[in-house]
Amino acid sequence: MGKTELLAPITKLLEVVFPPFCWHCDEPAALSQPLCPSCVKLLDILPPAEPFVTFEGQGPAWTLIKALKSGKAPRLAEGLAGYMALQYLKSDLPLPDFIVPVPQSLHRSLQVGYNPSLLLAQHLGKTLDIPVVQLLKRKRQLYCQMKVDRERRYLLSAENFHWKKSIPIAEKTILLVDDIIGTGATLRACCQRLYEGFPLKVIKMACVSEP
Ligand SMILES: [Zn+2]
Repeated sequence: MGKTELLAPITKLLEVVFPPFCWHCDEPAALSQPLCPSCVKLLDILPPAEPFVTFEGQGPAWTLIKALKSGKAPRLAEGLAGYMALQYLKSDLPLPDFIVPVPQSLHRSLQVGYNPSLLLAQHLGKTLDIPVVQLLKRKRQLYCQMKVDRERRYLLSAENFHWKKSIPIAEKTILLVDDIIGTGATLRACCQRLYEGFPLKVIKMACVSEP
């Protein structure tokens, strides 16, 4: 069989393995694209205000972040981080010295296979040309955060996080990155821990707010 004759069966196979439908609305999308053109247009960046939240937790943005968090679609981090970079650049703030991802528990990392916040931070760092440092580590937890009610999560304190004092952060500006923001307790707790290193400023950022 020649090369040309191989093309059709491979394309057909791909359409079966990766059906060209939008993950959000099931309308046709380009092959291997998660969203159809109409849903891409619905990805509206929120105004650049602190704490930065790039998207409201609804519509296609929520579909994408859920897929990223499920462990099935790490490639989505690149595009989502692109929108985060756009939002940050629209603000009056200077570029940070470091980007720090919110750490994930070891248990969750094993379930998902990666840390979505770290992936977002890495792509954001690449886009803005800023080093990403994993300064925080989560202490072992006996419960899963998603199952804990809002009130208890509100009480999540800095005690849940270790600060790896490997890199001096005094007088530095840090961009702290999480995937989803709910009550904001996790970002606040991480922030509190980082301020022990006397940074100039810690700017909080999440990709999507919890609906
Ligand atoms: Zn769609």
